[in-house]
Amino acid sequence: MASQKTCARCGVFADSSYMFESEILCSPCYKRWTTVSSRAKTAKILGIVGISIACIPVAIPAIILGHLELKAIESGDAMPGGRDAAKMGRMLGLIGLVWPFLVFGLAAVSFLLESL
Ligand SMILES: [Zn+2]
Repeated sequence: MASQKTCARCGVFADSSYMFESEILCSPCYKRWTTVSSRAKTAKILGIVGISIACIPVAIPAIILGHLELKAIESGDAMPGGRDAAKMGRMLGLIGLVWPFLVFGLAAVSFLLESL
């Protein structure tokens, strides 16, 4: 038998079409492993909302939830499928937190320049 492939998680025979982060998984493990948790989804949504309306109270929970989700994925408490969504939420949250200050800063600078 050439190249008998087994699931990297549970060891059963696995189809090589189920690849996740260079591991071959069986179909049930693949579905479980690539699940994006509701916390990861919430972080991403809050990040998008936070950056689009420059809302700091929305950006802060995006950063916190994204960070908690990434920690949970690292420690194995959450499925790694949510990693991208959690990273995106955290990153957008950080930008959403910073750019209102940049906008106000630029507005203040231009106001000062005009008044010279
Ligand atoms: Zn499996």
